[in-house]
Amino acid sequence: MNFQGIIGHEFVGIVEKSPAPEWLGKIVVGEINVSCGSCFYCNNSMGNHCPQRTVLGIQEKDGAMAEYLTLPIGNLHVVPEEVDWTKSVFTEPLAAACEILEQIQIFTNDEVLLIGDGKLAQLIGRVLQHHTTNLTVLGKHPSKIELFRKHGINAVSLGEFKGESASFKVVIEATGNWQGWDLALDMVRPKGFLVLKSTYVGSHNFNPASLVINEITLIGSRCGPFPEALKLLKEGKVDPSDLITEIFPLNEWKNAFNRAQQADSMKVLLEH
Ligand SMILES: [Zn+2]
Repeated sequence: MNFQGIIGHEFVGIVEKSPAPEWLGKIVVGEINVSCGSCFYCNNSMGNHCPQRTVLGIQEKDGAMAEYLTLPIGNLHVVPEEVDWTKSVFTEPLAAACEILEQIQIFTNDEVLLIGDGKLAQLIGRVLQHHTTNLTVLGKHPSKIELFRKHGINAVSLGEFKGESASFKVVIEATGNWQGWDLALDMVRPKGFLVLKSTYVGSHNFNPASLVINEITLIGSRCGPFPEALKLLKEGKVDPSDLITEIFPLNEWKNAFNRAQQADSMKVLLEH
């Protein structure tokens, strides 16, 4: 987004100042899209697509890697007592994982392929395992594949993968790279659903004819429902805390960034 400013959009914090005193002291997470409240999208429950929106740490609004941040009260959700901060800090990406279920219905026997083993893919896998018994994850890094398996999810490397072309009803692409897209296109079956979670960098040549011939439904998927994510955390259906690689104090941000750039790293958190 060519953003310049303070980054960071996944956070949990305490309300220090508010025009509504009942919010003071509350532990909250916050939706990151700040919409205008009066356009067509805002009036039709699609504020995440408001053309005038700013986005915390991403678009024209300073983000969470700071001592303080601001958000409208309407963006806030109180974190349930049962959920400690090392879990609630994952609400935003977990909500993005939940968005898939807002967009398509997944049935118990549906063959679902999730491509990717990064942070978002890990959360998507943990959400979808409650909805289909037929989930396969295709990963790249042995330690990240192992992490899926620890949670009882069938994850394989490309070398081990036995999937045939056009054999999955739902394919979710969450690698962030174009090879993932090509593979996803190959694996989805006629009349199937291709869900894109990657915001790709650069452009890519492909012939959309196969989408037409095979009548594939292509779904772009971004931010999702916070209440659903908080519910999964509260009920313990998703426990993301083993995705945390290390926690640094805010003033050690340089070390935190270095740690985050190492290949084995998952989530690196800043605490203030
Ligand atoms: Zn609007």
